[in-house]
Amino acid sequence: MITLKIIKTSYLTHNVKQFVVEKPKDFVYKPGHSTYLSINQPGWEDKRRPFTFTSLNAWPHLEFIIKIYDEHNGVTKQMGTLNAGDEFIMHEVFGSIDYKGPGIFLAGGTGITPFIAIFRALHYSGNMRKIALIYSNQKRDDVILGEELFQMLGPAYLNVFTREGVIGFKERKIDKKFLIETIGRFDRRFYVCGPKSFTEEITEALISLGAEPESIVI
Ligand SMILES: Cc1cc2nc3c(=O)[nH]c(=O)nc-3n(C[C@H](O)[C@H](O)[C@H](O)COP(=O)(O)OP(=O)(O)OC[C@H]3O[C@@H](n4cnc5c(N)ncnc54)[C@H](O)[C@@H]3O)c2cc1C
Repeated sequence: MITLKIIKTSYLTHNVKQFVVEKPKDFVYKPGHSTYLSINQPGWEDKRRPFTFTSLNAWPHLEFIIKIYDEHNGVTKQMGTLNAGDEFIMHEVFGSIDYKGPGIFLAGGTGITPFIAIFRALHYSGNMRKIALIYSNQKRDDVILGEELFQMLGPAYLNVFTREGVIGFKERKIDKKFLIETIGRFDRRFYVCGPKSFTEEITEALISLGAEPESIVI
């Protein structure tokens, strides 16, 4: 357990906040791994929630990208009030998504955070070949770091919007029909991250289309 000062905060979307945070000396983590954070303020120290590192090990600081749920008085709402100079408490680090080789990444909402870490690391080491991303959000305003994702992935980056007609983008749900039309072949590796219903539905669809369960990283 270690206290870390927040260096800078900014909003990436209307409800997603980026935190640039002090990095402990010699601290190393794997892209896609997460930690439990709490807030170093009276009454919040013991309320831990899991968040994913989005920074590169090569950077001098840590970065977290956190969706703020303002509708209820949870930890993220309180994180919405934090600024430079405030502090997090970082608890244990744990593996959530491990990169196992090229494949197709399917993300829903803030499920993109482990993929941001993985893509940044692959891009940094020049290994972005044979990587594709299908990123689902309700609306265009919800997309996190869309420009950076496009820079890293180019035409291998596909946005899907479930709630808003946006010219030039596909407005639909990721279902079997979508997967057949977009991916075609299922003898590949897949990475799926997002809300529980998103990961369950997509994993089930991929398996029913012939993907090997062992080739799906959830
Ligand atoms: C391994 C892992 C890594 C994660 N990494 C990230 C990350 O990098 N970035 C990120 O943004 N999130 C991430 N999450 C999700 C994040 O942990 C949750 O969003 C966070 O714990 C919510 O905390 P909270 O105290 O604000 O909400 P909690 O009170 O813990 O509520 C949790 C969920 O319940 C719902 N909920 C509960 N009560 C209410 C209510 N009264 N009204 C409305 N909704 C309610 C909310 O939708 C919320 O998502 C990760 C989760 C896991 C498991």
